Amino acid sequence: MKYKTITKDNPQNFKVRPNLYNYEAMRKDFKWEDIHKELDFLPGGGLNLAYEAIDRHTKNDKKNKIALIWDGKNNKEEKYTFQDMSRLSNQFANILDSLGVKKGDRVFTYLDRVPELYISIIGIAKTGAIIGPLFSAFGTEAIKDRLSDSGAKVLITSPQLLANVDAVKKDLPELKHIIIVNKHNVPYSPKENEIVYEKAMAGAKTEYNICSTDKEDFSIMHYTSGTTGKPKGAAHVHEAIVGHYATAKYVLDLHSEDIYWCTADPGWVTGTSYGIFGPWANGVTQLVSEIGFQVHHWYDLISKYKVTVWYTAPTAIRMLMKYGEKEVKKHNLSSLRYINSVGEPLNPEAVIWSREVFGMAFHDNWWQTETGCIQIANYAVQDIKPGSMGRPFPGVKAAIINDNFTQELPAGEEGHLCLKYPWPSMFRTYWNKKDLYNSRFKNGWYITGDKARMDNEGYFHFVGRADDVMNVAGHLVGPFEVESALVEHPAVAEAGVIGIPDPIRMEVVKAFVSLREGFEPSEKLKLDIKKFVAEKLDANAAPKEIEILKTLPKTRSGKIMRRLLKARELGLPEGDTSTLEE
Ligand code: ATP
Ligand code: MG
Repeated sequence: MKYKTITKDNPQNFKVRPNLYNYEAMRKDFKWEDIHKELDFLPGGGLNLAYEAIDRHTKNDKKNKIALIWDGKNNKEEKYTFQDMSRLSNQFANILDSLGVKKGDRVFTYLDRVPELYISIIGIAKTGAIIGPLFSAFGTEAIKDRLSDSGAKVLITSPQLLANVDAVKKDLPELKHIIIVNKHNVPYSPKENEIVYEKAMAGAKTEYNICSTDKEDFSIMHYTSGTTGKPKGAAHVHEAIVGHYATAKYVLDLHSEDIYWCTADPGWVTGTSYGIFGPWANGVTQLVSEIGFQVHHWYDLISKYKVTVWYTAPTAIRMLMKYGEKEVKKHNLSSLRYINSVGEPLNPEAVIWSREVFGMAFHDNWWQTETGCIQIANYAVQDIKPGSMGRPFPGVKAAIINDNFTQELPAGEEGHLCLKYPWPSMFRTYWNKKDLYNSRFKNGWYITGDKARMDNEGYFHFVGRADDVMNVAGHLVGPFEVESALVEHPAVAEAGVIGIPDPIRMEVVKAFVSLREGFEPSEKLKLDIKKFVAEKLDANAAPKEIEILKTLPKTRSGKIMRRLLKARELGLPEGDTSTLEE
């Protein structure tokens, strides 16, 4: 399917001069070492991402600039300067020191998006311990798996989440201390080994000597989303900040005066690389909302805080589309300058819609927990081909490789999306799974596990995860193309497609869809959708069957879990469901 390219104006005419002004020129000259020069490094020469994100700004005129605006539940609002963040995270680091936390220990957070989560994360990094953020909506099994796999020594949580921790504590012999943050002042009295955050902070010193970490020391580990199977603990090093900083500057186009909002939770890599480190390393003010997706509230926040740069995900965008343009028109969103998306393929429909209703298109970009920072992106200065993830970041070499991983495929051919390594923010291991880690590298390529194709202008187009690509009568069919056609139907809000076994054609395509507001499921509607997409797709890709679901199973980071649709369809075991959104 062909969509009209969205062309960009000459960058000379942009209201704000884009940081990435000329893609080709930058690509030609780019060196990661030059980015190093924009960082400060520790006074003694080490590299610590907490210092680059926060403390270095306290040495200049950003000291009293707002780093964090917090939009809390019950209309609470708090603001913290870089100086505040530096002082508070110093205090928190002192608390960890007093508990005997050492460089390399794992210190996990299991908290809602309250300021103390951000203070803790920066504080952990200062001690040289490894940050492990857990999403607060996780249940007992999910936290047990991750705390046990990582051997976490300290956990920071809240009274509201404590029951989940208590339920699994006996299975976590390495977990020595629990710090409780009581943001909303609920009745609670500490048990043995529980430390009251507020009390400990009141007695903690405000000075701290940041651990002199080396660029290769571990800094943070994130468990992947669990879309294709059991989540893996991808561990990153302090050098990752080089990638966070550079991509926040050149892809998200952050400028000092921006008010920036990343909607992702720090439980997922987007919420730390671009909800903490990258933007703060650029000295930018960030908005954090404790409240999850609510269409009115989201638009209210943009208008109240005059958000200029917004980074969100396809699931949220599809929800916004579900509520439609009329909701957008009720708010003044004129502060917005630049909007971005990551996490799943962004359907062309969503790109076109955003251009119509916000007056600017969502810029899709691609990366993974493992890559640590954005690898392929659409840029402010470059034309957008709706449905394409864009072009590799300068300094990143991406290619489409054949099934044996021996050859780069020419433009137009589908294959494995691979990256030349190393790059600063790449993961250095899967925790306790070194063999699996090693298996992801072949012949100088890092194998991403995704399939894609590159066109003759160097734009990459996502096909699907290697596991999800279907084989219909010898033709490979990627789910993204079929799903994008389905969501163009006026009744379809979301779509997930799988291949089901077929005696003649090997596999046939089955589609699961959920409906937009105002549509009811019926046989007639199913037929209508089927006919609608059959006209857009070739015969192999057209779904043979359509099933309407209330919602599609998704990970808590918002990704459609096709493997679950398939397991349920075929009556197979569901596998790991620790990240399934209930
Ligand atoms: P798991 O590895 O546990 O199965 P996951 O791959 O979903 O989970 P993440 O690291 O959070 O875990 O997600 C990265 C993946 O998300 C990519 O490999 C890709 O499949 C998908 N993805 C991210 N951004 C995009 C995008 N812009 N377009 C298409 N796919 C994307
Ligand atoms: Mg993955």
